[in-house]
Amino acid sequence: MTATAHVEPSLVETDSEVADIIRREEDRQGTVLEMIPSENYASRAVIEAVGSVLTNKYAEGYPGARYYQGNDVVDEAENLARDRATALFGFDHANVQPHSGTQANMAVYLGLMKPGDTVMGMQLDAGGHLTHGHKVNASGKLYNFVSYGVDRETETIDYDGMLALAKEHRPKVIVVGATAYPRQIDFARAREIADEVEAVLMADMAHISGLIAGGSHPSPAGHAQIVTSSTHKTLRGPRGGLVICDSKYARRVDRGVFPGSQGGPMMNVIAAKAVMLKEAATPEFQQYARQTVENAQTLAQTLEDAGLRLVSGGTETHLVLVDVTPLDVVGNVAATALEHAGIVTNYNTIPFDPQPPTVGSGVRMGTPALTTRGMGADEMRQVGQLIARALEAHADEAELSKIRAEVNALCEAFPAPGLPR
Ligand SMILES: *Cc1c(COP(=O)(O)O)cnc(C)c1O
Repeated sequence: MTATAHVEPSLVETDSEVADIIRREEDRQGTVLEMIPSENYASRAVIEAVGSVLTNKYAEGYPGARYYQGNDVVDEAENLARDRATALFGFDHANVQPHSGTQANMAVYLGLMKPGDTVMGMQLDAGGHLTHGHKVNASGKLYNFVSYGVDRETETIDYDGMLALAKEHRPKVIVVGATAYPRQIDFARAREIADEVEAVLMADMAHISGLIAGGSHPSPAGHAQIVTSSTHKTLRGPRGGLVICDSKYARRVDRGVFPGSQGGPMMNVIAAKAVMLKEAATPEFQQYARQTVENAQTLAQTLEDAGLRLVSGGTETHLVLVDVTPLDVVGNVAATALEHAGIVTNYNTIPFDPQPPTVGSGVRMGTPALTTRGMGADEMRQVGQLIARALEAHADEAELSKIRAEVNALCEAFPAPGLPR
């Protein structure tokens, strides 16, 4: 008698519905201009690590101090990710367990503060994030957040206003970092303000961590005592988060993550974060970060030449916030028209926006994913012109279809990594 080898069925054999959804999403990602500034294309190597059997392992605790047996191998993955994170960003300690940027922020708040404590963050409508104290978010429900904003004229962070508010409210923590802000953050200035009121400076670099890793945005090292990030934005890793900090805060940060706000870490994602950190330490990644910013600047100039208004007058990062109202259209209508043309962005409020958040006067767009596809200055000018044409033709479906065809040709010429060819 011979034993028949058991061949385990593949996804398409087990669940053709989910397999088909994945296939169609691969197709969508490959055939649109992905310009949501928080999105990117992770490499095949990162995706392989995420899809690995490390997902099976329970590893509550930290390397060498787990609450489960059998962690010798996965401990190596977490140590590798931690070592690479501290080396890349120049900090003493890293926690690579947060499931997302949101979890990273909440863990720091929990580790450093008691409910009801005062903390400062950037106003949502000035470009801040939900986790910087919005009233619908746990951050705003648990802590007394005081918000600073941008100057009405320059649309850049009002550091003098931040200092005045800090002196008035004496926060324990000051959070800098934003989600819809096209300018560099002045970490040195923010630290001076924090020192003035003996607050801890926390930099939330979720959007710009890849630019920082690649040397295209000033680093918070030496300024912020604690830094949080998402790992799937400009850093181009798996969906997740991380915290890096001075050794003084290591224990509080670690306790804020586990047991403070999470149970078992996702070891498959941690391994993928290690892969991401190796990729981000290469000269190729430095070039990528530089090209991402240059591309945003070329795109911004093209849009301005086409009659749009750039919030803050331009960009120093990977993203452009455009006021679309000079072309007689509002944010949500503009973003829908762009999607019909195969250009994926998101509508956004602009500082002091007369429109409600469900409409917005702006569209937020970024270059991280297009730059990952290898696009450069020529393509940015072409894309900027396609965007302007689509906004002018926002009610003309025939014209939007014509633009869609040009988008398809561009996507074919620049295949995205991580997707099947
Ligand atoms: C995206 C973002 C986050 C949260 O990231 P998630 O990974 O989506 O939870 C936090 N802060 C800022 C500034 C962000 O842009």
